[in-house]
Amino acid sequence: MSDARTHLTDLALSLGFDVAGWADAAPVPADLGRYQSWLDSGRQGGMDYLTRQLPRRADLSSSLAGVGSVLVLGAAHSFPEQPVPARGVRLGRVARYAWTPDYHTQLEPLLERLKTEAESLGVRARGYVDHGPILERSLAGRAFPGWQGKSGMLLSTSLGAFVTLAVLLTDLPAPELPASHPDRCGRCTRCISACPTDAIGPDRLIDARVCLSALTIEHRGPLPWHLRPAVGEWLLGCDVCSEVCPWSLHAGPLATLFQPDPELAHPDLRRFFGVSEREFLRSFGHTAFARPRRKGMARNAATVVGNDPQRRGRDVLTLASRDPAWEVREAAAWAWGRWHDTTELERLSRDPQPEVVQAAQRALEELL
Ligand code: SF4
Repeated sequence: MSDARTHLTDLALSLGFDVAGWADAAPVPADLGRYQSWLDSGRQGGMDYLTRQLPRRADLSSSLAGVGSVLVLGAAHSFPEQPVPARGVRLGRVARYAWTPDYHTQLEPLLERLKTEAESLGVRARGYVDHGPILERSLAGRAFPGWQGKSGMLLSTSLGAFVTLAVLLTDLPAPELPASHPDRCGRCTRCISACPTDAIGPDRLIDARVCLSALTIEHRGPLPWHLRPAVGEWLLGCDVCSEVCPWSLHAGPLATLFQPDPELAHPDLRRFFGVSEREFLRSFGHTAFARPRRKGMARNAATVVGNDPQRRGRDVLTLASRDPAWEVREAAAWAWGRWHDTTELERLSRDPQPEVVQAAQRALEELL
């Protein structure tokens, strides 16, 4: 390995990344083909920008001229369970990656530090944390012992599936390293069986139209009616496929770069109501909750409460019924139906927004 590569790898590990390794910047044709077939099958759902980005994913020189090799970095977010804070309505589950302040904000300064160091060595570089048009999982499967599992997630032999990836594109020549690491899923199918919405295809491609992670984070507007029971407890994201993976169960070391916050792991659902989007961002703008925004978090909260078998969180549903965003009131109508509360459904069936009225009437019909 060149001195510059060794130096940058050592620096990345000293900055707190759990794994670091190098990959050839040229895409693996098979991985690119699978990505193309995922787009062609429409399983990206409403994320149309992914199709537009395909040419850039296929050629990283559009992101860094003369790119030759990529430093791929992984940081574990396999946090232990967090204590539930005392007060508030603490229902629902948040995917582990969101238990810590937004990882983009935490990793970007480290990428900038690596870029500066690379440039001091005469190496041109550009860092990306998830936002770039890059097939990170394909690169990671070549850079360090890992592979893209049947769940579609990158699995690391040392960290399991709870890995956040970042990359530093460089104009260093391509490394002479193995093209890829072996697939170690074997005959295991735990993630496929456990997925609440059968989102994992036999081709290891995920159907974002039904994946709870995509629905609770990226989907705008009402959630598909028939999938709401399957949302279960998931307030933001979904970790089911990663939790059941045997590689996650035996993973180590625990995350050190990211610190979990119990207030993000178990947020008080009431904080998503009675505030403007601006006030919400003042509280949560530094977290993954900012992606679905207040409206999305309030919609998800109403759905989670509707799914609660013990019917806890009535305060939250009452707030959702009176929310200024019709998408939240629509979710509340569905939830009151789950609770068999016809009084609230009658009230919502007189809502000024037609979608709310339809939801309330549909919920009432389903009770008959
Ligand atoms: Fe592979 Fe099993 Fe993990 Fe799924 S749960 S990614 S099949 S090892």
